[in-house]
Amino acid sequence: MKRIYMDHGATTPVDPRVVDVMLPYFTDKFGNASSLHSFGQEAAKVLEQSRQEVASSIGAKPEEIIFTSGGTESDNLAIKGIAYRNSDRGKHIITSTIEHPAVLNTCAYLENEGFEITYVSVDSDGIIDMDEFEKAIRDDTILISVMHANNEIGTIQPISDISKLTKEKGIYLHTDAVQSFGKIAVNVDELGVDMLSISSHKIYGPKGVGALYVRKGTPLQSLAHGGSHEQSMRAGTENVSGIVGFAKAVSLVNEHRIDDSKHMTQLRDSLIEKVMDSMDYVYLSGHAKKRLPNNVNLRFNFIEGESMLLFLDMKGIAISTGSACSSKSLKPSHVLTAIGLRPEDSHGSIRITLGKGNTQEEVDYVVEALIEVVGRLRAMSPIAGKMKLS
Ligand code: PLP
Repeated sequence: MKRIYMDHGATTPVDPRVVDVMLPYFTDKFGNASSLHSFGQEAAKVLEQSRQEVASSIGAKPEEIIFTSGGTESDNLAIKGIAYRNSDRGKHIITSTIEHPAVLNTCAYLENEGFEITYVSVDSDGIIDMDEFEKAIRDDTILISVMHANNEIGTIQPISDISKLTKEKGIYLHTDAVQSFGKIAVNVDELGVDMLSISSHKIYGPKGVGALYVRKGTPLQSLAHGGSHEQSMRAGTENVSGIVGFAKAVSLVNEHRIDDSKHMTQLRDSLIEKVMDSMDYVYLSGHAKKRLPNNVNLRFNFIEGESMLLFLDMKGIAISTGSACSSKSLKPSHVLTAIGLRPEDSHGSIRITLGKGNTQEEVDYVVEALIEVVGRLRAMSPIAGKMKLS
């Protein structure tokens, strides 16, 4: 059976060029980057080259990059790191209602530790409400954390507008760029952020590696105590092979992002158009234009996203009903609820996230499969039946 993967928002396959550069670092070049002998020095050298590659791709300096185990750890380090180190200045943090659980659950944890969190709402496209945002800022606000692009609906936030406010008021700004990095331009100065999270497995690199950008002079408390790795901000022997793979994936992003994103945008728009043209009661969630090049989030009336997912899986097609982390839960997605969808609309939603390797033929195959699956499920649906839908 033909297998088609369209869940690149959850994870991506590792690019074979990435695997090639990683392999020697498991065997011949296995040194610990902290060791003084030549094995160690070899590892230390490639670690710094990798740091340079990652830094230059986002307009940062190498010393502003802390390697982590991925997006979740980067988000934790940014938010808890600022909170613990700056609590004498204030204990108020602002975030949005549509953040990834890596941010929302970190904020919820801090609430139990005596911090106060304001969750700013978004409009029906998922764009943050700037007026509400401005009003939420207080004298004791120390940190604002708003994601660059949403993992479920792909909406891109006006981070540079937010940064004008935070700079004026001396508040630290963090953005989770896990989904945007590799698909749209990400530059720390243009965005005006103090901290930015990225993850390797969303950009055809290995899992379990990522980075936090920390602007020079941003006071952060380390969460892991141990050796003085990563400028004493993240103790633990560095994952050299993983970091080398991550850096290679970043270099491929630098070389091919514009072409790859153009390709995915064409596929995305073709998929949306074909689905909308061939079926009724289908709607797009998220902003039509300010959206990631690879994200399609559709809601179908009268049927369940989970059923669509399972029927498509039987045809070899991999998609999702939300973010990878929440798709096993039966609760309606907090993102779809935040943009104003009723629970039944959230339950009828699916997320298709394209990748650089997908083709127009695959898109056409998926559209055909969707038409068939939706028709079959609606034929079984009592509500659709009453409306004489097929
Ligand atoms: N932030 C966003 C927006 C994500 O989409 C994800 C993963 O889905 C994460 C953070 C977590 O990243 P990681 O899987 O590298 O921990």
